[in-house]
Amino acid sequence: MNLLLDKWIPGESGQLCLEDILSNETEYFISCHRDDMELGTLALIICLVQTIFCPQDTKQLKQRISTPLTPKEYTKAIKPYLDWFDTNHLQYPFMQVRSLHKNPSSIQKLFNGLPCGSNHTWLRRESKIARACESCLAIMIFNQASNTPSFGGGFKYPLRGGSPITTFVKVGNLRNTVWRNILTKEFCQAYFSPSVNNFPTWVSPLEHKQEIKASEIGLLRGLFWQPIQMMVDWQRGDITCDSCQQPTSVYGENFSKEKLEYKLAGLWPHPHSPTNTFLKKEDKSLVTVASSFNNSAPGWTYLPNFLREATKNDQQGYQPALVVKHYLQTFEAALESVSIVFGGYINNQAAIIERRQETFDLRESLPQLNQFNEYLELALEVKTLLRKKAFGLGKSLSDPSLPDSCERRYYQYTEPLIHSLVHQFTNNSPVSKIDFLAQLKNICEQIFKHSFGSKAQRAEILKSKAGLFAAISKLAQELAAS
Ligand SMILES: [Zn+2]
Repeated sequence: MNLLLDKWIPGESGQLCLEDILSNETEYFISCHRDDMELGTLALIICLVQTIFCPQDTKQLKQRISTPLTPKEYTKAIKPYLDWFDTNHLQYPFMQVRSLHKNPSSIQKLFNGLPCGSNHTWLRRESKIARACESCLAIMIFNQASNTPSFGGGFKYPLRGGSPITTFVKVGNLRNTVWRNILTKEFCQAYFSPSVNNFPTWVSPLEHKQEIKASEIGLLRGLFWQPIQMMVDWQRGDITCDSCQQPTSVYGENFSKEKLEYKLAGLWPHPHSPTNTFLKKEDKSLVTVASSFNNSAPGWTYLPNFLREATKNDQQGYQPALVVKHYLQTFEAALESVSIVFGGYINNQAAIIERRQETFDLRESLPQLNQFNEYLELALEVKTLLRKKAFGLGKSLSDPSLPDSCERRYYQYTEPLIHSLVHQFTNNSPVSKIDFLAQLKNICEQIFKHSFGSKAQRAEILKSKAGLFAAISKLAQELAAS
């Protein structure tokens, strides 16, 4: 199956090929039975388009958006890449290596979370995956190599770490969404050198024990980085794929895998990851890593990180993914109805313990993004104050779980408030920050009421609540003075 020619993209009414999406105005959308697979599919399409159809500049990008590709343009552009994106190519099978017959595993292992994971909830249909088609396997091989924790036991992590967050901009149908996440050559110059190795790792393999600098990895090579050696044992025969339930005549049942030994210095600037920069405790040096989900806080708490650059004087802070940064620079004034799609896994070493997949609707509020972010940061500040008070109170009440339970309630109770804030920004009529703060204070009041019930009048609880309210009032005074 060739990713540039064949129908492999799971659409709402059957499988699509890449040309279907890029060459006409039909309203296509991806539809998978797993939402992480859906995001993996979108990422794979974006990586292919970024590689093959990278526009020179903003003018060309906007032209690509306004006019679908002609069949002639499509055929000409894919020609040099045809050999690299074929799942069963004799010499360069997509993200695999021939003549590997080691450590065979069931292909179910590529559908992470099955069967050893403790959380099966991301499957709309719970099932065992014994045999899968080339389409599902291409997506999951790419997903495993790019987005998930390693297989453990010395197998390398993806290029951006064990559980990176992926963020994309979503605007309208699939064709429109894909182009909004494509960087121009002009923009790429600052991040990716054109004179370094830019062949896929399955065409120009890593050498044993090679030492590589992140800056020596080209854009294509990094987007399709395969941190392990693997090969699916492709079989012929008419079966139904256990994953997508589509008939197929080529399928995989097992795959071989082998560790790769290499040393990578620095973080490759993966265009789809927001990053965090912090001071290392040991030697106080600055380190930048791809952002990860580290708790079950809702999506809005991560939005400041996904949308805006915020660094302190000492360079610590966070930066959005390059695709989001590029989009905001190029389209912010376009007043499009925009959503941010984000997802990732929460892992404990090789085990995935949770997955996150959300779409946050920003509508037309982008031009006021800085102001919107200030509200989100205020809500996060109140959460921190609440947690601190709950920590002290938890100690005196011998309830160590109190900070976590208060934080969970805070997220639960504030969710409608945040969504209503998006509406207000869309209508250009946000509440004042002082009023917003008063709403957050009410939520804290509710949390105290629901956490303690009839015990809420106990002296230490009242004292703690008064302390929290005083801190919130101080914030309000600072806001009024600013
Ligand atoms: Zn399938």
